[in-house]
Amino acid sequence: MNPENHTAGGMQTMDCIFCKIAAGEIPSRKVYGDDQVVAFHDIQPQAPVHLLVIPRKHIASLNDATPEDTEVLGRLLLAARKVAEDAGIAGSGYRVINNCGKDAGQVVFHIHLHVLGGEDLGPLTAPRG
Ligand code: 5GP
Ligand code: ZN
Repeated sequence: MNPENHTAGGMQTMDCIFCKIAAGEIPSRKVYGDDQVVAFHDIQPQAPVHLLVIPRKHIASLNDATPEDTEVLGRLLLAARKVAEDAGIAGSGYRVINNCGKDAGQVVFHIHLHVLGGEDLGPLTAPRG
């Protein structure tokens, strides 16, 4: 295994739930996979369609991406478009979100895009309480 990938972002790949999903070690409802990218249904959907798109490479967050990751970052966006099309929401519209760090509420530190749609998603951010 590439030692750089193994410890990127300070987290051991072996402890990372999304690395395990990408490797097929933890089950998921996969909708797409290629040599660099995997997409699957979120376990706690926040919209009628809620998919996650991840790189096979462990990158902890957008803060940890480097110029070397330029291609895979582009592939994530194109995969997001493809899974939205396949889910039938490309025409009605969808939202692609990346949560980066604490204030954004990032919980899983393996970079991922949320693809949400299937209904009017409302405003971008929740009303401040
Ligand atoms: P974050 O807040 O880090 O941007 O989002 C992490 C997302 O991963 C959450 O929406 C959460 O429901 C989802 N998630 C966490 N663990 C699992 C899992 O084991 N399987 C799947 N399919 N989704 C997960
Ligand atoms: Zn990972």
